[in-house]
Amino acid sequence: MRRATTVIVGAGHAGLAMSRCLADRSIDHVVLERGEVANSWKTERWDSLRLLTPNWQSRLPGCGYDGDDPDGFRDMAETIAFLERYAERIAAPVEARTTVTSVRAVDGGYEVRTDRGTWRARTVVVASGACNTPVVPALAELLPAGIHALTPMEYRNPDQLPEGGVMVVGASATGTQIGEEIHRSGRPVTLSVGEHVRVPRTYRGRDIEWWMDRCGVLDERWDEVDNLDRARTVPSLQLAGSDDRRTVDLNALSWIGVRLVGRLAGIRHGKAQFAGSLPNMCALADLKMNRLLDRIDEWIAEADLEGDVPPRHRFEPTRVPQSPPLDLDLADGSIRTILWATGFRPDYSWLDVPVIDHKGRLRQEGGVVEAPGLYLMGIPFLRRRKSSLIDGAADDARDLSAHLASYLAAGRPIPARA
Ligand SMILES: Cc1cc2nc3c(=O)[nH]c(=O)nc-3n(C[C@H](O)[C@H](O)[C@H](O)COP(=O)(O)OP(=O)(O)OC[C@H]3O[C@@H](n4cnc5c(N)ncnc54)[C@H](O)[C@@H]3O)c2cc1C
Repeated sequence: MRRATTVIVGAGHAGLAMSRCLADRSIDHVVLERGEVANSWKTERWDSLRLLTPNWQSRLPGCGYDGDDPDGFRDMAETIAFLERYAERIAAPVEARTTVTSVRAVDGGYEVRTDRGTWRARTVVVASGACNTPVVPALAELLPAGIHALTPMEYRNPDQLPEGGVMVVGASATGTQIGEEIHRSGRPVTLSVGEHVRVPRTYRGRDIEWWMDRCGVLDERWDEVDNLDRARTVPSLQLAGSDDRRTVDLNALSWIGVRLVGRLAGIRHGKAQFAGSLPNMCALADLKMNRLLDRIDEWIAEADLEGDVPPRHRFEPTRVPQSPPLDLDLADGSIRTILWATGFRPDYSWLDVPVIDHKGRLRQEGGVVEAPGLYLMGIPFLRRRKSSLIDGAADDARDLSAHLASYLAAGRPIPARA
């Protein structure tokens, strides 16, 4: 059996950020990774994906962006290279190709079993990712035979799909990006739209992420928002990274011919049934976008920058089809493929500590899990609105490594907010 003060599970950016912060505090640790550094980016993403966050926004502890394209968007090869370079630079003690198969509490610490031996540690950081498994609604089982169904983790590029129509279910970052790509490949796309978050790529001369960073939206804390549960389940922004910095919202998609329908509510007798709420969903998304833009405008006024940036303006409301279809025959051959862009969830099946609630989430406060010495990184709004972004890991890792160090020093559980 091998020993370390801390075992970090996962060598994505969150695990690496924590490794760097523990090293700064001279806390000996190991990072156990079932694949290699940046495994999720290497194995679970589609070919054309580019980060939707600009280059300047991939800051990790001790590492800012020093290239010559701060406003560009990394593709997958660049994202992987960036994380590999970071792991090398901080000399992260990564044990690659080591899958953690169980973690259980023993003698005031944890026993971590892997497919390559067992570790004993006083503390464990779960940095195994928020997007391990695609969420597919139960009604997927009702799809008529002959329809090719896949998830974003299986999707690589349009060439793998049969010719013919495609229904993409879900209109957040993943659904809108993949929907646009498939439609441009000549396969007509029907996009099923539920709740979504509309934002423009740029506003008043700057990237929307830049404004959200500047005016403090991304730094909002978990202990300050009114409804944390809700904040943690807000869909991802309808954003894409591209050289032309184009906005990929529903207007842009319907402009190129994507057909918009409501949320997929059921499948009966081979027919997809859509909720009639499409106009409301779109009106709500427009309203929320305008609230964000109002906030940016207020910040600009307060910072006395009115004269330095283009004037305030508003975007055309989402153009909703007059009478969107409420059902669609899935058996008539017009739809050959369904892509479930209906979200992702973490997988804690290897965690044998009784801290998982009925919804499969870890019971935790700001990353301090309800089991002494157990910590969590990398889930949406863990400690801040930016927690699930690469850019969010630095602050969270600093806070949680400080808590972990205090816990080790005190030798007893300490409150999450200490
Ligand atoms: C499609 C998509 C696009 C995204 N785009 C952006 C973006 O543009 N900008 C941005 O900032 N964020 C983006 N994100 C969000 C976020 O950065 C990623 O989800 C990111 O990969 C999360 O980092 P992580 O380190 O928490 O998890 P991961 O990168 O998933 O790392 C977790 C690691 O843990 C390993 N692991 C899991 N289970 C075990 C186990 N049992 N034993 C050993 N190892 C294990 C995995 O192999 C993996 O390497 C995107 C996410 C998705 C899904």
